[in-house]
Formats: sequence, structure tokens, C-alpha cells
Amino acid sequence: MIINVHAGHNPAGKIACGAVGLIDESTENRKVKEEVIQELRELGHTVYDCTVNNGASQADVLKRIVEKCNAHTADLDISIHFNSAAKDEEGDGRTTGTEVFVYSASSSAAVYAEKVCSEIAALGFRNRGVKYSSGLYVLKNTKAPAMLIECCFVDDRDDVELYHYRKMASAIVRGITGKNAGTADVNPNNLDNQKKEEQGTGQEAEKETEKAPLYRVQAGAYTIKANAEAMKEKLKKAGIDAVIIQA
Ligand SMILES: [Zn+2]
Repeated sequence: MIINVHAGHNPAGKIACGAVGLIDESTENRKVKEEVIQELRELGHTVYDCTVNNGASQADVLKRIVEKCNAHTADLDISIHFNSAAKDEEGDGRTTGTEVFVYSASSSAAVYAEKVCSEIAALGFRNRGVKYSSGLYVLKNTKAPAMLIECCFVDDRDDVELYHYRKMASAIVRGITGKNAGTADVNPNNLDNQKKEEQGTGQEAEKETEKAPLYRVQAGAYTIKANAEAMKEKLKKAGIDAVIIQA
């Protein structure tokens, strides 16, 4: 499939950024977006990132997102958002949950939307279901069938405690493709985060690699390319074949 993916709104702190609660929509939707794109690509899909980071206003952000989406002939447009106004910052033991918008019941995105809702609900979020809206700009103006995912609520403690961006992203990908991405590659830029998460995501990683394990050996991770090349040389001299992979 050819899939357009974008995170809604400008980045956190800018004009026209997303909802802010216990977590920040514009920060989390970008994390989910990155992971969704990576997993879809691992599964062999062509993915375009249509996120806009420098819109002059909310209307401008939306207009530019749609321009980016419509520059490609895609099978599906995916807009990633987080909801707000649950007003449960204390936590009442129940999530407010997830919902996915499509333009109408006859949109070809509706079937994917149902599955995305089910997969996110399977993580433990309340399933608010698929909703129809002919008024949402992205749904109305993109050429490809589109869905707007409200992952969960930024101002509900129960949602926030259950939420993890990688699990959310994997659920979205499973909803769209029916598959788990084969590998959870280490992004050298996120090594610190990965280390912190290793314990928490052990089970998930095990599940994800059940079908086709792929073990990569890593000797280093660098933000400066020359350092990566130096390590490659060192390995070469030691008789070890090495490649540099940019993540
Ligand atoms: Zn939003």
C-alpha cells in the first residue's frame, strides 16, 4: 500500500500546537507517527510523512498537510491526534479511550478505522468507536480515503498511564495491515530511551519478533557520521565486515 501519515498540529510550544494535559498531544503524536511510519515501512509499504511543523496558524497547518497528502497518489491518509476534555486528571480507574473519525460510512477508510479502534481497545482503552464527520478539514479535502485517529485522552490519568507510544503505534499498524512489524530496530538517536524502556518492552519485543526474528549486531551509535565511519574502519581492520545504517 501507499500510505500518507501525519501528526496533527504544529510542534509543541508553537502557535497552533495540539492539546496539552498530563501529556502533550504535539509531542506524543509525533512519537507515534514516527513509529507507525517505521513499522509500515518494515512491512514493505510505501509511506510519506505529511506532517507540517511550521504552519502560520491552525488553518495554515491543515491546508499544508492536505497539500502534502495530495501530492502523492495514496491508498490511505492517516492523521494522528490525541483527544482532550476528559477532565480526569486524578484518575477514576477507567480510561476515556480511543476513537477514529472517517468522512462517512461509505469511505473506504471506514473498514480500517474499525480495525484500528479494535486494536487500540485491545491494549485496554475504552473503544469509543468509529465516528463520521464531513466537517473535519483533512477528511474532507484529501484525495485518498482518510482517517483521523484520536489515540487516547491527554487529560485522563488512566489513559496516560496505559499509553505507550510504541504500543499505540503497533496497534495502529496492526489495524491497518493485520500484521506486526517484524523487528523493533534500535534507532541510535533514541538509545537512551531504548535503554530505559528495555525492561518494560521485553515482552512486547518478544511478541513482535515471534514470526521472523532478525538479530542485528550493533557496535556503536553516533550522531556524527565521521565517528561512525571511524568505527567501520576499525571493524574492517579487525576483519569484520560492517555497514552504516542511518536511522
Ligand atoms: Zn488534535
